[in-house]
Amino acid sequence: MTQITLGIIGGGQLGSMLAIAAKKLNIKTIIFCDDIDAPAQNFCNKFISGNYNDKEKIVEFVNQVDFVTYEFENIPYETLNEINKIKPVLPKPSVNRLIQHRLAEKDFINKLNIRTTRYVSIEKKKDIEALEDFLPGILKTSTLGYDGKGQYPITSIEEFDSLNIDFSKEYILEKLVKLKKEISVIITRFNNHKYEIYEPIENIHEDQILKHSKIPAEINEKIFNQSREWAMLIAEELKYTGTLCVEFFIDRNDNLYVNEIAPRVHNSGHLTINAYNINQFENHIRAVCGLEQIPLKKLSNAKMINLIGDQISHYRKSSKLNNNEFLFDYLKKDIKKKRKMGHITTLI
Ligand code: ADP
Ligand code: MG
Repeated sequence: MTQITLGIIGGGQLGSMLAIAAKKLNIKTIIFCDDIDAPAQNFCNKFISGNYNDKEKIVEFVNQVDFVTYEFENIPYETLNEINKIKPVLPKPSVNRLIQHRLAEKDFINKLNIRTTRYVSIEKKKDIEALEDFLPGILKTSTLGYDGKGQYPITSIEEFDSLNIDFSKEYILEKLVKLKKEISVIITRFNNHKYEIYEPIENIHEDQILKHSKIPAEINEKIFNQSREWAMLIAEELKYTGTLCVEFFIDRNDNLYVNEIAPRVHNSGHLTINAYNINQFENHIRAVCGLEQIPLKKLSNAKMINLIGDQISHYRKSSKLNNNEFLFDYLKKDIKKKRKMGHITTLI
């Protein structure tokens, strides 16, 4: 069989881990990224840097690959759609367009009779005045947010006024859920009603950035089953190909809500690298490239901690780890505050 070449758009840590998984499957990877210092260039076969709107560069990239996938959702829909005319883009671009926009995403989820937080679209300053009902809440930019960027917790209209929000962008105001816990479900869809699904992962965020993940999640059986069912329903409805993550909230009365969908591999699933026979990255590649589906087997319970900002420095100097601990340094050039620099998974 001739060797498959997979194109990956985006060269952060997720791109790196996808490239590593591809290598294990004897698949070549070419990564396209707008950051010339993208860390994934350390792990792929070929790296092309260019702007996501640079047609010529994009065509140069597409001509060299068999399939295209992406590691983050904020790629212009037009770019993915143009590529899809030449080579298959998976998951398909329409999925990305839907999920890029928090409002469209939440409307879609609600149409499936799945509970989300209460939300309302905010387009101009005046919109907020009648919305006491949604306070305390979190105002979020409708597009381009990640790791808590573009989010403003607000408790009163006065507080909102003092923020001087830039209304050239669209926003969504979400009612704050009194959180008991957050979990995520990672699922890989291969084809109609064909899935591999990982057990729910329990997550702790600090400053709206994921800090800890662990399996098993301490949740009741009803939530365990419902979160999996909802993840399957979402993946099926999207006719999704590849790995997808659904983030959930659990409130103090044990109600389950979908927070958001990530149409890609996910940070909370990094522990699948050490805890499962097939990790989320390999499953994504298997689905996208049409390879064999292998039944998932959990090998161990696990917990993962993200190394954020200069927390990585300590481990770069001395990485004495126990043999159940696994360090992953993303090799990002600059250490920045609130930037995910690496993670450690511990098998337990
Ligand atoms: P991002 O796209 O940055 O991941 P999220 O909407 O997932 O944005 O928000 C990040 C985190 O902020 C969540 O995981 C949760 O901890 C907290 N958060 C966001 N929205 C709410 C909400 N409506 N109620 C309670 N907590 C929230
Ligand atoms: Mg999130």
